[in-house]
Amino acid sequence: LGRKINSAFTELTKAPVIDEKVLDSLVKEICAALLASDVNVMLVQRLRANIKKNVNLEELANGANKKRMIEKAVMDELYNLVDPEAEPYKPVKRRANIFMMVGLQGAGKTTTCTKIAAFYQRKGWKVALVCADTFRAGAFDQLKQNATKAKIPYYGSYTETDPVAIALEGVEKFKAEKFEIIIVDTSGRHKQEVELFEEMKQISSAVKPDTTIFVMDGTIGQAAEAQAKAFKEAADFGSIIMTKMDGHAKGGGAISAVAATHSPIIFIGTGEHLQDMERFEPRSFIRKVLGMHDMRDMIEQVQDTMQMADSKKLMKNIEKGQYSLRDMYEQFQQVAKMGPLSKLMGNIPGMPAEMMAGTEQEGTRRMKRMMCIMDSMTDAELDGDNKPFEDINRVMRVARGSGTTVHEVQEILSQYTKFAEMVKTMGGKNGLMQNMPTDP
Ligand code: GDP
Ligand code: MG
Repeated sequence: LGRKINSAFTELTKAPVIDEKVLDSLVKEICAALLASDVNVMLVQRLRANIKKNVNLEELANGANKKRMIEKAVMDELYNLVDPEAEPYKPVKRRANIFMMVGLQGAGKTTTCTKIAAFYQRKGWKVALVCADTFRAGAFDQLKQNATKAKIPYYGSYTETDPVAIALEGVEKFKAEKFEIIIVDTSGRHKQEVELFEEMKQISSAVKPDTTIFVMDGTIGQAAEAQAKAFKEAADFGSIIMTKMDGHAKGGGAISAVAATHSPIIFIGTGEHLQDMERFEPRSFIRKVLGMHDMRDMIEQVQDTMQMADSKKLMKNIEKGQYSLRDMYEQFQQVAKMGPLSKLMGNIPGMPAEMMAGTEQEGTRRMKRMMCIMDSMTDAELDGDNKPFEDINRVMRVARGSGTTVHEVQEILSQYTKFAEMVKTMGGKNGLMQNMPTDP
């Protein structure tokens, strides 16, 4: 797909004379690519008309400049598709900012609200979560588990059945405790849209959110436009988060949703883990949908990854010769973030995709599985060494909790032991690390 677009632009560059025919075939290629990515059909037609209207072949001088102008006009039209001309809500420090999450069941609301909470918490905001989903059995447990893992205060109830009452109680409680960002998770009952929209409206008028965030499953393709429109009417959301943009999502749904609601996408979800969320950047997103990765994307991604890989704490521990299971977990997290890099590399023209595929992806998958196992460990276990796991009951509990085998858990523990021993010899008073320069 990307090759096609790139070659369409190459054709443009090679054409001796740029006439209606050359422009037509370029536009046709791009439209075909957009349709293949599940961008709404009407939208593609509008784009085609706009390009034809805005590129006046007669007025443009011939030559290289003309080609550049056309390329720019086409790309501008494409960027316009994901530019809602509306700014997302910016929370204000030292007061309560209420976020309300809406979206269908299974869209990823509960997962995403912890991701956002963690995002703001990392930036120094005082964040809390409220579970106002009384519809789905186990909804509170799910939020509680996620919140506990991310160390974010939460509120919910096993007995109260009125979502409006819980939402209000939670928000009032955290407001009184001077929380700055209070995120309200709601239910998304499937196939009961009338009741769902009614519930949303009631919660909204009770907690009066500063912003409502629509969470949409990125894999729904052509259905995106209708769904986004329906939620916009019912909940008047201020921004969108597209989830499940890992896997096979083609991205066209995102474009259609923005165009239909004039609301910005703020993040995209790229996996089930807490750290699997990226900021949405319209221009690079369009290039990705069209398969037009360039070096700049890659460099940015590398820089982002480097910044996130905050390994100072880890280095300090290593110097001291200390290494906990959590240190290993965090190291995996950092490496896992490099994952998409291999995908990007595969898109550099001339680079055979197969070269990047095989082992690195396998490695990432293996690591994610190990992280999933460690997710089933308690905080105390993570912060310690492998001693507690001499008790086989603990090993069995972790295996059960992560849906893996005792053997797999033991494998991780033995890997940990190897690392920890290495760290011990490297660090400590007489260790190898003593002469290394350190950050204050
Ligand atoms: P809710 O019903 O809207 O609260 O949705 P949940 O948060 O319970 O998520 C539904 C499922 O989607 C869960 O299995 C999540 O792990 C999964 N999920 C959520 N976000 C993502 C994502 O960005 N990528 C992937 N692959 N899965 C996700
Ligand atoms: Mg939920």
